Amino acid sequence: MNNITSLNPYDNSVLEEFKPLTANEVSKKVKAADIAFQSWKKVSISKRAKLLKKVGDILLENIETYAKTITLEMGKPISESIAEIEKCAWVCDFYAKNAEEFLADEIIETDASESFISYDPLGTVLAVMPWNYPFWQVFRFAVPTVTAGNTALLKHASNVSRCALHIEEVFQKAGYPENVFQTLIISSKQVKSVIENDLVKAISLTGSEKAGASVASIAGQQIKKSVLELGGNNAFIVLKDADIEWAVKTAIRARFQNTGQSCIAAKRFIIEESVYDQFLELFQEKLDNFRSGNPSDQSTNFGVMAREDLAKELDEQVKQSVNKGAKITYGGTREKAYFPPTILENVKPGMPAFDEELFGPVASFIVAKDEQHAFELANQSTFGLGVSIFTKNIQKIKKAIGQFEDGAVFINELVKSDPRLPFGGTKKSGFGRELSREGILEFVNTKTVYIKKT
Ligand code: NAP
Repeated sequence: MNNITSLNPYDNSVLEEFKPLTANEVSKKVKAADIAFQSWKKVSISKRAKLLKKVGDILLENIETYAKTITLEMGKPISESIAEIEKCAWVCDFYAKNAEEFLADEIIETDASESFISYDPLGTVLAVMPWNYPFWQVFRFAVPTVTAGNTALLKHASNVSRCALHIEEVFQKAGYPENVFQTLIISSKQVKSVIENDLVKAISLTGSEKAGASVASIAGQQIKKSVLELGGNNAFIVLKDADIEWAVKTAIRARFQNTGQSCIAAKRFIIEESVYDQFLELFQEKLDNFRSGNPSDQSTNFGVMAREDLAKELDEQVKQSVNKGAKITYGGTREKAYFPPTILENVKPGMPAFDEELFGPVASFIVAKDEQHAFELANQSTFGLGVSIFTKNIQKIKKAIGQFEDGAVFINELVKSDPRLPFGGTKKSGFGRELSREGILEFVNTKTVYIKKT
């Protein structure tokens, strides 16, 4: 089997080579996860939750090391890597405070003497995770899942294998029983056999539609639950009565943070005709403030894409859109893994820039005739992660919330993840929810208990 290579996308240097586990080694780790589960499920929820405090401490104590690895392996600016680790500590703190309440028995009044719902863990859960937020994506899965009493196996994206090993180390250092959280250094081809292992009870995948469809179909064959967090093509709607300065400021963060490689990034900017020119002009001005360079330098605020092949793919989508009538009016020239902040105007349905997810720093600008047209364009997507709407008329927009088909509606704010709120999509963006109470209840047996006193 070929080694798994971690490359620095900034200069293409080899950071490390990893030897994938053999089939036998993988089986041993799965078995060990199941053995760990048999004791871990008996540990009280309050004890499990207490360990999270330690996880948060270890993340913050080692923040420089972990942030440095994120930046080296996937190219985001170091300041964004630091913020990512801080967010992981936040999710630990949130579930440390709330897990007991979320997982407590729920009394239901029926004709029984006593009836209630209890939430029991399922067993070992496999997580297949992406590289774009190499720590955050894993923590938002692992913290609730493990605190619910499951054990976790992580198959991380190959290009962030050192991050994957750091994460395993965090759980070890925090004092978790052995094998409650393990990283598997394996290729995507090896995932099938892990899902098919009887000791693995459920799967969570964050990634592309292609990977999601493959993993969920294998899980389906095995009658195992899966949660899928896939792509997005979020609309960012600006209505004519919006605070345009605020909308532009937010739009820049919504599209360009993480070098545009976020599932919930705003991708289609749908602007009402009468404020289009004003919005565009201010947007362009703000792009001049980005400083590209070595992502490990504190002064860099715009990174490189995580892999050169991903930048090439984006370039191809932009070119195809231009062939169909879109216009590049800012940026657009790729250099290896570097893709500059780019504006594509005149974007319409039928172009990749409208129909597909552009997973990089390209903003697609679309003119809407009026409010209703803007809402129709927003829903015209195979994805359904989230939508942002900018307007001063909150009462009116609240009445329109039901029209949107997405998993989240944010008004006058970018779509963002927050441990207190559920996160997930509709349509080809996947199914299931992460974070909040909904997230911790994804990998549990919702058990009905009915007692009649005789
Ligand atoms: P990807 O190619 O699907 O990879 C994601 C993970 O799946 C990696 O660990 C990858 O391993 C693995 N994988 C790929 N093909 C597989 C297969 N056939 N069977 C089993 N595992 C497989 O996605 P990506 O390019 O890394 O990430 C970008 C995509 O993720 C975008 O579409 C983005 O929108 C989506 N995403 C969604 C969310 C969300 O919460 N909804 C968050 C972040 C990203 P290897 O690296 O070894 O191939």
